[in-house]
Amino acid sequence: MIVTEQKPDREVLEAVQKYRRVFIIGCGSCATASRTGGEEECRSWTEKLRENGKEPSGYSIPQETCHVLLMKSTIRQSAEASSSDAFLVLACGAGVQAVSAASDRPVVAGLNSMFLGTTERVGEFLKYCSLCGNCVLSRTAGICPVTRCPKGLLNGPCGGMVDGRCEVDRTAACVWVAIYDRLKARGDQGKLAQMNAPKPYVSARQRKVEPVNISRKSAGRNAR
Ligand code: SF4
Ligand code: SF4
Repeated sequence: MIVTEQKPDREVLEAVQKYRRVFIIGCGSCATASRTGGEEECRSWTEKLRENGKEPSGYSIPQETCHVLLMKSTIRQSAEASSSDAFLVLACGAGVQAVSAASDRPVVAGLNSMFLGTTERVGEFLKYCSLCGNCVLSRTAGICPVTRCPKGLLNGPCGGMVDGRCEVDRTAACVWVAIYDRLKARGDQGKLAQMNAPKPYVSARQRKVEPVNISRKSAGRNAR
């Protein structure tokens, strides 16, 4: 399971600033279990958007927001989603990117993906999120440079890019060119005028570990 935390309200409100009608997409799997993207959080963000002068057009909690085809049909089947100016996605980085891939509308990441919990799955996967703990997808057109650029560059492209191809693998497209193209298609290339600041990386030892909230009942059961 991907464990997520809510981004600070101020950061999310800044990211949705230029959009009026915002549709919220939660996630019925990991983010619901993390209590960051379930029914309660979608309702809470509906209120917060309204209080801040936005027009929340509705919300949906797909079973797996990281599933591109599912997101395409979710958006297609909802008049409110299809007619929104942007999506506020309360899901992990893979979910935000699935919504971005499923629609030509801008996406705003509402959560930070923190770490990978237990998972059990047989299949084929694309690595789209490294769970860096400080998501930049709101500024990079829903495409993650930390994971998809071989150098993990927060600002690009690097000097090795040639004709839109990656220096490290000439058969692959440069992810920073893809970011620019998608931002440009949305008239949002101004986002690239501002450099992404270095991430506040800290070692695991320095990272503050918060106690997990447990109910009185389970606390009693586990008490020694
Ligand atoms: S910036 Fe990339 S690696 Fe970091 S949380 Fe967002 S999608 Fe994941
Ligand atoms: S060419 Fe693009 S994707 Fe490749 S390393 Fe440079 S910035 Fe990253």
